[in-house]
Amino acid sequence: MNENGFDDVYQLDGGVINYGIKRGQGNWEGKCFVFDDRGAIEIDTKKQDIKYSQCNICFVPCENNQTCRVCNKEYLMCADCDPLMENTCSKFCRNLEKMKEEKIKSNKEYQELKAREASN
Ligand SMILES: [Zn+2]
Ligand SMILES: [Zn+2]
Repeated sequence: MNENGFDDVYQLDGGVINYGIKRGQGNWEGKCFVFDDRGAIEIDTKKQDIKYSQCNICFVPCENNQTCRVCNKEYLMCADCDPLMENTCSKFCRNLEKMKEEKIKSNKEYQELKAREASN
């Protein structure tokens, strides 16, 4: 295109498909038309039959398949996000697990307090 006098031609980082997948969820209408034999591509990953292997959190390509210890869903997570997420698929699940742990902890403290009172 630059050769034909179009100077202001830019390529989206990672291509328009990647851009659509990262940014277009929920606010992408219709399909994305690409100028090769793929024709129109479905951007909404829920309707997509092409499988994209990318981290659930930061969307870098990865193949590290795991099962969430909270919701038992299979998910992909890169080596960077994995230690932060503590074997959970999302921030939602991680918070849920944290809340559960807090509850168990406070319940245990309560039981200990009660036991101490009873022994007095
Ligand atoms: Zn990641
Ligand atoms: Zn989960």
